Amino acid sequence: MGNLVAIVGRPNVGKSTLFNRLTKTRHAIVSDEAGTTRDRQYGKCEWNGREFSVVDTGGWVVNSDDVFEEEIRKQVIIATEEADLVLFLCDINNGVTGWDMDVAQILRRAKLPVILVANKADDGKDLYDQYEFYKLGLGDPFPISAATGSGTGDLLDKVLEILPEKPKDELEDGIPRFAVVGRPNAGKSSIINAFIGEDRNIVTDIAGTTRDSIYTRYDKFGFDFYLVDTAGIRRKNKVTEDLEFYSVMRSIRAIENSDVCVLMLDATRGIEAQDMNIFQLIQKNNKSLVVVVNKWDLVEDKSQEVIKTFENAIRKRMAPFVDFPIIFASALTKQRIYKVLETAKQVYLNRKAKIGTSKLNEVMLPLIEAFPPPSVKGKYIKIKYVAQVPDTQIPTFVFYANLPQYVKEPYKRFLENKIRENWELTGSPINVFIRQK
Ligand code: GDP
Ligand code: GDP
Repeated sequence: MGNLVAIVGRPNVGKSTLFNRLTKTRHAIVSDEAGTTRDRQYGKCEWNGREFSVVDTGGWVVNSDDVFEEEIRKQVIIATEEADLVLFLCDINNGVTGWDMDVAQILRRAKLPVILVANKADDGKDLYDQYEFYKLGLGDPFPISAATGSGTGDLLDKVLEILPEKPKDELEDGIPRFAVVGRPNAGKSSIINAFIGEDRNIVTDIAGTTRDSIYTRYDKFGFDFYLVDTAGIRRKNKVTEDLEFYSVMRSIRAIENSDVCVLMLDATRGIEAQDMNIFQLIQKNNKSLVVVVNKWDLVEDKSQEVIKTFENAIRKRMAPFVDFPIIFASALTKQRIYKVLETAKQVYLNRKAKIGTSKLNEVMLPLIEAFPPPSVKGKYIKIKYVAQVPDTQIPTFVFYANLPQYVKEPYKRFLENKIRENWELTGSPINVFIRQK
């Protein structure tokens, strides 16, 4: 269970520069980063063997002068509700503004650790200016230069020193964890109510390790799973829930702690930027996916044609990852609620799929022979053997080739598609690696 660090501060103080520096510390061990989109809002930082997530609040600000101060203020409030630690970034050359004083007050009242960071301390003489920051009442300013990296190592040491070590969850192994995620009003609480009903015998709350993270064990009707973070989903905050940033921050923990995400879309609204933000969080965390088009009761024309149009629109937005189930449901009338659970369970099993090596080679090698990787600079590329790597988070396949560096993304996608055509992996991301034979 990871920690979450939020970077807050005025525009141009260097939040995104710091974010980039922090998230670059992470080595791409399990995934070839090239294939995944890198956005500036959410990433992972690895330092001294510990990993935590970082959010740059600046990534969501609408750039319009009259709204921004109020909007960032709201984001700071959301950050204090959801994060484990806040980095309050100031520009050492710009001193302290009234807005900084306001934000400092919010941060002083919040019950989470805050590090005041004085950025752009590029050379020693600037350090005189840092004394001004004491009036924020947040202790010693921590001087860094996000641009050159000076001081950022010490800052990370301090972050790790302060971040609470999370105790291990006392969850049973092998029981899937489902998270219901989606933008405000998509119907998350409604569908959870539909799953659980009022029957107290079905569920047990397990006190989570953080303030609000709670796993609920559901064990009935042939289903046995944990629902992640239902408390967070039920708790609403009317002041801030219209912000995109809100639904993202609300989703991070639930997604990180799950195996399968049930992404709720609102049939009356289609798929919008907020939904895509959450989808990207799911992807970045390598989680499995079931899409629920909720409020289907409100759609009058339920013809096959309309269904197809919906499905195509959704898959088009989420391409290249398109192999996931889409269920048209209604949390209100409970139409297909059972089907949602059934599908989530199947998707979990797909995530755990183990494909025997001989079968894998038997099917894949002839396909590869029929469509070999294109030769590069006259060099002939031969894939000789494929195996699934044991004990990985998601199904991971290694193809052994004479010249792995010449096997490009489109061909890897071809291999992935062929694997998906031949085995049931719907809903699960998979990794395809090419290695030296
Ligand atoms: P944000 O709006 O808070 O995300 O700020 P950015 O990260 O976009 O940085 C704003 C500007 O400040 C950019 O031109 C950066 O290159 C510059 N900047 C960021 N960090 C530093 C630093 O440590 N020193 C100096 N001199 N410039 C910096
Ligand atoms: P959340 O913010 O994602 O937890 O959404 P809620 O579960 O609170 O639902 C938001 C609103 O949509 C409420 O007024 C629900 O009654 C309504 N709602 C949720 N699911 C459905 C549905 O399937 N059909 C209809 N007609 N309304 C729904």
